[in-house]
Amino acid sequence: MLFLFLGPIAMSESSRLRLYAVSPARFHTCFYCGCDASEFDLVYPGAFSELLSRFDSEIEGYEIPACSECYRALRRERAPNIDQRIDKAKQAIAKQYSKALTVYQMWEPDEVEELSDDLRISIQAGVKLGRETQQRLDFSGYEFELDGAKFPALMVNRHRFEVFGEIFDSYRQALSFASKAYRIPKAKLAQGFAEHGHCFERAITAHHQQMESRLVKSAVIGLGLER
Ligand SMILES: [Zn+2]
Repeated sequence: MLFLFLGPIAMSESSRLRLYAVSPARFHTCFYCGCDASEFDLVYPGAFSELLSRFDSEIEGYEIPACSECYRALRRERAPNIDQRIDKAKQAIAKQYSKALTVYQMWEPDEVEELSDDLRISIQAGVKLGRETQQRLDFSGYEFELDGAKFPALMVNRHRFEVFGEIFDSYRQALSFASKAYRIPKAKLAQGFAEHGHCFERAITAHHQQMESRLVKSAVIGLGLER
């Protein structure tokens, strides 16, 4: 394994292996979210066992470049597998910036333009932060070197959203589409989505059933048939 010494791969003092980005543009980039990395997340020795053909019992673990936020989120996290750690980091980011994410998901640019100055500035700031947060959540890692071998970016389980046959990569796109196509206010639909097992189709169906029964009720009242 002489080539080990040609690249930046090296054992640190504590026999931890460090993960390196293949592309120099990705050096110092958080592996979890794509922000600037300033720390190393210390990962259980078996974290990459599915990728590495051998499991070296002498390795204490791996050092993964991480930004300060992901590092803090994972510091006490016992999840051993790298995929699980990616999920945990993203859950922490989503929780931390949930308000900004909601603003980003709810507001269309033309709606924001119509607001009064103060409100517009505040909503625009929320949209910007929400967009950046979404990019961190969508970040799918980078090609990396580990223990002398190169690996493609790990495929992060990206969520896809379906609305009666239409597929969307993001919740925001799906919400925007479904709100327009099925004439349901975004806030109402978002609430329904949460209440109906994170399923747009069930939320839409439930909303329309509710509207229908309301219509029937008001027709009945209008006819003076209600007792
Ligand atoms: Zn990060």
